Amino acid sequence: MSKKMLKFVTLEKQMPAKREASERREDFNEIYDEFAPEKAVEQASRCSQCGIPFCQVHCPVQNNIPDWLNLTASGRLEEAYELSQSTNSLPEICGRICPQDRLCEGSCVIEKGFSSVTIGAVEKYITDTAWENGWVKPNAPRVELDQSVAIIGAGPGGMAAADEMRKRGYQVHVYDRYDRVGGLLVYGIPSFKLEKDVVERRAKLLADGGVTFHLNFEVGRDATLSELREKHDAIIIATGVYKARDISLPGSGQKGIVPALDYLTASNRKGLGDEVPAFDSGELNADGKDVVVIGGGDTAMDCVRTAVRQGAKSVKCLYRRDRKNMPGSLRETTNAEEEGVEFVWLSAPKAFHGDGEVTAVRAIEMHLGIADSTGRQVPVEIEGSEFNVPCDLAIKALGFDPEDIPTLFDEPKLAVSRWGTIEADPVSKMTNLEGVFAIGDIVRGASLVVWAIRDGRDAAVSVTNYLRQAATQAKAS
Ligand SMILES: Cc1cc2nc3c(=O)[nH]c(=O)nc-3n(C[C@H](O)[C@H](O)[C@H](O)COP(=O)(O)OP(=O)(O)OC[C@H]3O[C@@H](n4cnc5c(N)ncnc54)[C@H](O)[C@@H]3O)c2cc1C
Repeated sequence: MSKKMLKFVTLEKQMPAKREASERREDFNEIYDEFAPEKAVEQASRCSQCGIPFCQVHCPVQNNIPDWLNLTASGRLEEAYELSQSTNSLPEICGRICPQDRLCEGSCVIEKGFSSVTIGAVEKYITDTAWENGWVKPNAPRVELDQSVAIIGAGPGGMAAADEMRKRGYQVHVYDRYDRVGGLLVYGIPSFKLEKDVVERRAKLLADGGVTFHLNFEVGRDATLSELREKHDAIIIATGVYKARDISLPGSGQKGIVPALDYLTASNRKGLGDEVPAFDSGELNADGKDVVVIGGGDTAMDCVRTAVRQGAKSVKCLYRRDRKNMPGSLRETTNAEEEGVEFVWLSAPKAFHGDGEVTAVRAIEMHLGIADSTGRQVPVEIEGSEFNVPCDLAIKALGFDPEDIPTLFDEPKLAVSRWGTIEADPVSKMTNLEGVFAIGDIVRGASLVVWAIRDGRDAAVSVTNYLRQAATQAKAS
C-alpha cells in the first residue's frame, strides 16, 4: 500500500472552512469553502484503505471511494475524477448534498475514535477541479443509434438516466414541466446547500452531448403517456413526488400558512432572477416576520435557514420528536442552530390562531412513548401542556406524496402502490407496462438525490437490454 495513506493516526479530521454564521445569514451562497489543494491531499491520505470498504458498500452508487482517495493523496487528480465519475453522473452534487454522515462517512471504519475521512468534501474538490481544468467533457457517443427514449422528469434521476442512455448512442428526449433542468436540485434545495450554476453546467453538458430537453412540457397536459409511447421506443418516468402532506387543524385556511415547497420554490426562483409576485407581495417571503416551521426533515431545515436569510425577525422549528430522533441530517440541524434557529423539540401543532391571518400556532408538548413496529418511539401528547407560539408566517414541511400518476398520464393500467408510488421491478425498473420504466422518488417515495441517480443508472442498463432485444426482433421479422 502507498505510504501516503493511513494518516488518520496522526492527522486530525478537517473539513474545508465553514463561513461564520453571522456572514452566512446575509446571503444564499454555499457555506463551505473549497479545500486548498494541499488540504485535500492531506485529508484524503487519512483513509485506512481497509479490506472491506464500508464507505463504498453503504454508498448507494457504490463509489470506489478508497481508490479515488488514494489517487487524490498521490496528486493524481485527473484519474481520481475519471474513477469517481464512472459510478456517479453528478459527483459534485453528491459531494455537496449527500447526507454523508448517514452514508459513506457514517460507515468509515476509522470513525470510531478517530473521526471519518471527509469523503464528501474530497469528492466535491475532485470534481470542481475537473471542471476548472476542462476534464469534464460531454458524453458524445461513438455510434448514433436510431432508437429513442423519452425521459419524463429532468431531476437527478432523469439527468442520470439521460447521461447513461446518451453515452450508449440512443436519441434521448427529456420532458419536464418546469422551465429549467434539475427538478428539486433547482427549485427545492436552496443555493446555500447547492449553488444553481453547479446544476446548470451539468444541464448544459447533457445538451452539448446531444440530449434534447423539452421544457415547459407537462405530460398529462401536453401529451398523454400513450402518445409518448407511440413516439419513442422506451419511456423512463422520473417525475418525483410533489403533493404536500397536510394536517387538518382548526384555523388551517388562514393567510400566512403556506406549504414548504411553494415557499422554497419562490425563494429559489427569486435567487435565479425570476419574477415572483407571491414573494414580492410578502405572501411567500419571511422578511421581518416571526416564522414557525412545522416538521423535522431536510425540507424543514431548508425552510428555517431560508427564512433566516430572508431577514425573519425570529425563526422557530416545531418538531414532535427530539433532536436525536429527527429525520433531517444532523449536520444541517447544527448549521441551522448556528444561524440562530430555535428548535422547539417534542411539540406538535394543534391549531392555528388568527382572524383570517395567522397570529400563532397552538402547540402541545409531547413525550416519546413505547416503540412501534419499526422500532421508533411514538410521540404522545402530554395532557394540559398546550402553549402558543406567536407567528405571522407558518410553513408546513410535513413531507410529500405522489400525485395520481395513472389519472394524470391518462393511463389507468399503470400499476401503483397503495401510497400512489409507481410499482417498478426493483432490478429492471420496468413497470407493468411494456417498455415503460420508473425511477427515483416516484418509485421510492421522498428519498435522496443519490438514490435517484442510482436508479437512473440502473434503468439505463435495463432499457439498453430492452431496446437491443427490440432491435434484434425487428431485424428478424
Ligand atoms: C426541500 C428539499 C430538500 C432536499 N434536500 C436534499 C438533500 O440535501 N440531499 C438529498 O440527497 N436529497 C434531498 N432532497 C431529496 C431530493 O431532492 C430528491 O430525493 C430527488 O430530487 C429526487 O429526484 P427525482 O429525479 O426522482 O425527482 P425530482 O428531483 O423531484 O424531479 C422530478 C422532475 O419531474 C418533473 N415532472 C413532474 N411531473 C411531471 C409531468 N407530469 N410532466 C413533466 N415533468 C414532470 C418535475 O418538474 C421535476 O423536474 C430534498 C428534497 C426537498 C424537497
